[in-house]
Amino acid sequence: MPVATSNTRAIKRFVIAGGGTAGWMTAAALARFGPPGTSIALVESEAIGTVGVGEATIPQIHLFNGALGFDEAEFVRETKASFKLGIEFDGWHHEGESYMHAFGAVGRGVGLLPFQHYWLRAKQLGFAKPLMRYSMNELAARTMRMQRGRRAQGAPEMPYAYHFDAGLYAAYLRRFAEARGVVRHEGLIERVTQDGESGAITALALDGYRLVEGDFFIDCTGFRGLLIEQALDTGYEEWTQWLRCDRAMAVPCANGGDFTPYTKAIARKAGWQWRIPLQHRIGNGLVYSTARMNDDEAADTLLANLDGEPFAEPRTIPFTTGIRRKMWHKNCLAVGLSAGFLEPMESTSIHLIQSTISRFLSVLPGAEPDPAIVEWFNAQCEFEWTRIRDFLILHYTANARVGEPFWDEVRTMELPDTLRAKLDQWRATGLIHREHEELFTDVGWFQVLVGQGVEARGYNPLADSLPETDLRALLDGTEAALVEEVRQMPRHLDFLQSMMTSA
Ligand code: FAD
Repeated sequence: MPVATSNTRAIKRFVIAGGGTAGWMTAAALARFGPPGTSIALVESEAIGTVGVGEATIPQIHLFNGALGFDEAEFVRETKASFKLGIEFDGWHHEGESYMHAFGAVGRGVGLLPFQHYWLRAKQLGFAKPLMRYSMNELAARTMRMQRGRRAQGAPEMPYAYHFDAGLYAAYLRRFAEARGVVRHEGLIERVTQDGESGAITALALDGYRLVEGDFFIDCTGFRGLLIEQALDTGYEEWTQWLRCDRAMAVPCANGGDFTPYTKAIARKAGWQWRIPLQHRIGNGLVYSTARMNDDEAADTLLANLDGEPFAEPRTIPFTTGIRRKMWHKNCLAVGLSAGFLEPMESTSIHLIQSTISRFLSVLPGAEPDPAIVEWFNAQCEFEWTRIRDFLILHYTANARVGEPFWDEVRTMELPDTLRAKLDQWRATGLIHREHEELFTDVGWFQVLVGQGVEARGYNPLADSLPETDLRALLDGTEAALVEEVRQMPRHLDFLQSMMTSA
């Protein structure tokens, strides 16, 4: 009697469609961790090219680079990276005001109670200083300083990420992946062939005659979602009622101004502008709503706000915010822009690539995947994306830019229930409820809530158990220690140069 064993549908051949950041990150990870005996092919088309603007990251990038065993100094040199301690948001609450979402701790709690409750109590008592005074990363960032590891005994680590050239990162990953056996096919995917019965993908047809066959396919073809959407018709859930910007215009320019160890996100009339300093240039872009700003106005705004000479004509990139209804469907996984798009405001896209890859590796199917695992996988992705989405919406909705049509609209829009519940709880109690797998910590939420002027009326009464003099000492002592710590750090540029010369 014939029995279907796991070997009959064994997954031995992975095919990655697309060679942008997503494609090469996936290829590198599969090459490093894929089971022995599997082959990995990657197809990309130089004629189509990549989006190539993903330049700012969050500290989780260390997990990915570290897992691949990259040498940090080499990586920094190869990708022309700079360091990033957080993101400065200019004008998101009021024009002329700024705050920072800095990585790492803000203040220190006592016992089980996080710092925010002590700060909120001190604020009611009238002696809390701005959050910056209690954040090592922000104090360092604003004075252009940077360090790695601990300086003083007991001093906290300084979490950091990078700004880097996404094109150079993809090239670096490509060298790594090809050296480990990944086979690259240059060519245009013209057709996706599918099994007549199951609908599973069987091959990619290139340039009319070449077939790249596989058992499992990873769609890294960018916004077009060639496999997950055009072939498998998986569906896309739009989030444009909340994240209303639908176009970006990007332009690199010559270095000038401060070599900031932080990203800048500057609110504009109908969106916002990013500024990302690299070693050889500054990456700039305007994210805007075409309902409120046309391309000419966008180009004028962008070009009028550069630190140096532009290196090219501004390039427009249309997008639709939202998420693929299933990241994993049949024998196809969507990674990168083919999985969906959230605005680059909190630099989460590259992180979402790596988290999708590592989630996939954690349940890597050796044969026909268990439907329950696929369902779990998709639910986890949806949860992760939804909570990031809420965090991004917060930046828009909590604005006080009254009288500006775009900002009036987003301030008064109906919010997702998940975000509304979080805001209600914060306002009433100073608590930030964060579910286990959410990317952004309560410290991140705390900084953005305070920075965007969302007032908490209450705080946890446990904070009252600290006598007022001790509360003052807690805040003043924390601030003094951090100021001293930061004072001894090298300047960002010096730090970078010393790493480069040691490479
Ligand atoms: P793409 O770069 O579009 O690559 C698609 C690949 O598919 C290409 O190799 C292309 O050749 C190939 N392809 C497509 N169709 C075919 C075909 N028919 N045949 C053969 N090959 C094909 N992320 C961050 O983490 N930080 C940021 O600061 C950041 N900023 C961003 C700003 C903007 C405006 C945008 C749009 C994105 C930003 N991102 C950012 C996201 C980041 O750029 C992407 O997540 C990342 O580059 C991954 O892109 P990708 O590889 O999925 O797609």
